Amino acid sequence: MKDDNGPFAAEMPAARPIRFDRSKCIGCHACLEACQADVFVPGEKRGPGQPPVALFPGECWYCGACVMECPSKGAIALVHPLINQAHWVEKKKLTGG
Ligand code: SF4
Ligand code: SF4
Repeated sequence: MKDDNGPFAAEMPAARPIRFDRSKCIGCHACLEACQADVFVPGEKRGPGQPPVALFPGECWYCGACVMECPSKGAIALVHPLINQAHWVEKKKLTGG
């Protein structure tokens, strides 16, 4: 998925919980309306390929509401912090011992 957070991308801190795919976004801003943490602000333009701006990513609590409300599959994705992506595997399953 293309990583695109708009004009504020260069200012985004390490935590970047939201990724947009502008090629799939219809610009409805349902994600903005769904977010109870006010992570998003409207972009300069509205319409296809114009998602809101994830201006306050540090406020995200990873509830997934924005992704669930998005009517265009794949337009928005939630990226969990690396430490939460860890997957514990029993050692003997890895080593066979
Ligand atoms: S995951 Fe929840 S808190 Fe984070 S941006 Fe989406 S709706 Fe807001
Ligand atoms: S809800 Fe989905 S389609 Fe609508 S603006 Fe957000 S990312 Fe784009």
